[in-house]
Amino acid sequence: AAAGLLATGSMAACGDDSGSDSGSTGGAAVGKVGVILPDTASSQRWGTDDPKFLKAAFDAAGVAVDIQNAQGDKSQFQTIADGMISSGVKVLMIVNLDSGTGKAVLDKAKAAGIATIDYDRLTLNGGANYYVSFDNVAVGKLQGEGLVKCLTDMKASKPVVAELNGSPTDNNATLFKEGYDSVLKPKYDAGEYVKGPDQSVPDWDNAQAGTIFEQMLTEKKDIKGVLAANDGLGNAVISVLKKNKLNGKVPVTGQDATVQGLQNILAGDQCMTVYKAIKQEADAAADLAISLAKGQKKDVAQTITDPESKAAVPSVLLPPKSIFKDSVKDVVADGFVTKEQLCTGDF
Ligand code: BGC
Repeated sequence: AAAGLLATGSMAACGDDSGSDSGSTGGAAVGKVGVILPDTASSQRWGTDDPKFLKAAFDAAGVAVDIQNAQGDKSQFQTIADGMISSGVKVLMIVNLDSGTGKAVLDKAKAAGIATIDYDRLTLNGGANYYVSFDNVAVGKLQGEGLVKCLTDMKASKPVVAELNGSPTDNNATLFKEGYDSVLKPKYDAGEYVKGPDQSVPDWDNAQAGTIFEQMLTEKKDIKGVLAANDGLGNAVISVLKKNKLNGKVPVTGQDATVQGLQNILAGDQCMTVYKAIKQEADAAADLAISLAKGQKKDVAQTITDPESKAAVPSVLLPPKSIFKDSVKDVVADGFVTKEQLCTGDF
C-alpha cells in the first residue's frame, strides 16, 4: 500500500527518500522515475491511455513515478524536466515536442547522471539510452494500404489523393509518411492515382488541419481519398467533408483507434485507423525504466539508427494493426475501449 501511495503521489509528496519507502521491491534503494508527456490535444492517448497504463505498470512494481504533461508548451516541458531532475529522479522518460527541445532536456538529464528513455518519439541526435515505440514505418504502410483497400472497395477510378501529414517536428510523422508514400507513390507513378495536395500539420493541431483541408478542397474539388496521419487530423477532415456533404464518399485514414476515430469508422465516415496497443508500449517502457531505476541494465533485441547522429539506439518496436469497420471489435476485445464508449450497439 505504501508503494501504491508513493506511486500515485506527486514528486513533492514523495519526498527525497523513496528508497526507504519502496519496501515492496525489497533490497537496494530504487530510484524514482519521471515521465513527461507532450500534450493532450494532438491525440486522446496522451491525456488518457498512456498515463493510465504507465501508472498501472509502475504501481504494480511499487516504483515511484511522476507523470506530467507539458500541454504542448515547450518551456513548460523544460520546467517540468528541471523539476524532475532536481527532485532526484533516477530515470527520465520523455515524449518530445520537437527534437531540439527534447535534446536539451536529455542532455541536462545525462549530465546529472540520469538514465533516459525516448517514449514513442525518437529525439533526433538525443542520445537516449533506450527508445520504445511501434514500428512507425509499418504504421504508415498500414495507412497507405488501408486507403488503397477503401478506394478499391469504392471502385474509385484514378482518384485524386490528398495527404495530411503529422507535425514536421515529430520524427514519427516522417516515418509514417515514409510508410504510406511507399504504397501511394507507385500508384501515382503508374497513373492509377493522381497525386493531390500534400501538407504537414504543425504540432498535429486539429484546428489547423481543418483549415488546411478546407483550402485543399477549395482548390481541388475532386479529392477522392485522404491520407490523414492520425484520427484527430482525420476527424478534422471528416468535419469539412460533412459540411460539403461528402462524408462517407471520400475515404479518410487515421491512427490511434481513438473513441472518436472508431465512432467515425462505425458511422462509415472513416475508412480505417491503426491500433497501437498502448498498454504494450507502456509496459515495455515501464519495464526498462524499472530496471534502470534499480541500477540494472537490460538488453533489448532491436536497435534503430538515429538518422542524425547515426548512433544505434537500443529499441523496442512493437507491431501496429489496421482496424476497419469489421475489426473495431478487436480493439474492444483487447480492452482498449468499451462497447459503451462507442455507444453504437452491434458491431
Ligand atoms: C504518435 C501518434 C500520435 C501523434 C500525435 C505521434 O508521435 O505516435 O500516436 O497520434 O504523435 O500526438
